[in-house]
Amino acid sequence: TVVTRFAPSPTGFLHIGGARTALYNWLYAKHTGGKFLLRIEDTDRERSTPEAVEAIFAGLDWLGLNADEEPVMQFARRDRHAEVAHSLVAAGKAYFCYSSPAELTEMREKARAEGRPMKYDGRWRDRDASEAPEGIKPVVRLKSPLEGDSIITDQVQGEVRVANDQLDDYIILRADGTPTYMLSVVVDDYDMGITHVIRGDDHLTNAFRQKALYDAMGWNVPTFAHIPLIHGPDGAKLSKRHGALGIEAYRDEMGFLPEAINNYLLRLGWGHGDDEVISTDQAIEWFDITDVGKGASRFDFAKLTNLNGIYIRQADNARLADLIEPAIAANLDVRNLDAVQKETLIKGMSGLKERAKILTDLAQSATFYVTKGVLSFNDKAQSLIDEAPAGLFAALANELAGLDTWHEEAIETVVKQIAESKELKLGKVAQPLRAVLTGSNSSPGIFEVMQVLGKPETLDRIKQFEA
Ligand code: GLU
Repeated sequence: TVVTRFAPSPTGFLHIGGARTALYNWLYAKHTGGKFLLRIEDTDRERSTPEAVEAIFAGLDWLGLNADEEPVMQFARRDRHAEVAHSLVAAGKAYFCYSSPAELTEMREKARAEGRPMKYDGRWRDRDASEAPEGIKPVVRLKSPLEGDSIITDQVQGEVRVANDQLDDYIILRADGTPTYMLSVVVDDYDMGITHVIRGDDHLTNAFRQKALYDAMGWNVPTFAHIPLIHGPDGAKLSKRHGALGIEAYRDEMGFLPEAINNYLLRLGWGHGDDEVISTDQAIEWFDITDVGKGASRFDFAKLTNLNGIYIRQADNARLADLIEPAIAANLDVRNLDAVQKETLIKGMSGLKERAKILTDLAQSATFYVTKGVLSFNDKAQSLIDEAPAGLFAALANELAGLDTWHEEAIETVVKQIAESKELKLGKVAQPLRAVLTGSNSSPGIFEVMQVLGKPETLDRIKQFEA
């Protein structure tokens, strides 16, 4: 069975590219009835933080990309990694290298003078340990293949070939006995039973070095799928350094729904005909790693936003009310909404959600429904109120007070009658009315707004302008 994994380094938040890698791994596992695992690559002790680990867990959880087993923490497995390095030395597949810093500097300078990348020249590859100089702690280097080509049949990139003389005897164990990243990744993937390594194509060159290590251990090389990185709208690489692109910013600051993010990321590099809106169940059925495109994808914020609007319209009203409650409470400067406010919000949601593409806008546009006391009025609303026909609000308050059934249609009939009797177009009545009730010149349908607000609240708001 297929076993995939997502292996983030907790040096920053879960960014949008990482989320897509996780999604593809998760989907491929679900599609094949396999398993999806998580490994935290926390071996860089200086740059890894517990906050970043938490942010990765929280981000994956929010997106619903849950691992099928407890996460593996890479640093905790360092003894096992070292053990593998020593077993390679014992088998003659790796060796202690005693080259001094001065020697390595010399090699580096020689390479620079000859205009080629630095490559360790293998001077300790066949030397006996008895020749080891005093006082130098050795590193362990892998014996990489010297001749021929290495070939990787990548599920996305196709057949990729590298001449083995390009590969150097790289370090697998540092002088202080700690494993290098390359060693840890291979040992962990092997021990976790990973069959498919799906990750960003910035790791493609690493794959060749890792293959040499699998071969040295006599382990099966997993199937690789290196997916193109996501680029920004400007064509520049999208990376963690674009600070605002941590997944939690999409949730908290920008107000996206996880299903919209997943759907958008799914289609960034993979497609099913012209289908734009693809449910998770459909994605599980259709997704195959071999269908991922080779070309770089560009992140299109407008498309993501539109898709989010579609998902907002599909979302359950009570769920949306829950999601925007904190933002509304903050707008109103209260800790949370009371039951009545919550109910009003849910009632108003059908109309509100037709007009919002992101939750932050939804919260903004919903706040008037649950404001107690005086609304804040935008400039256009203020002018609509100032320029309202004389006596309009008094007439509205009066006529509406007599209405027994407080329902959209009945309300509409009364308001239309007032417009007719004053020889005004409906808009001349409806717009000032909208302004006093919502504080804005735009809102859901005004009769719907009045029904949701209820009779007492509607009359209270109008009466503030009666005089
Ligand atoms: N930890 C690596 C990263 O965050 C991923 C390594 C891998 O997927 O093999 O880029």
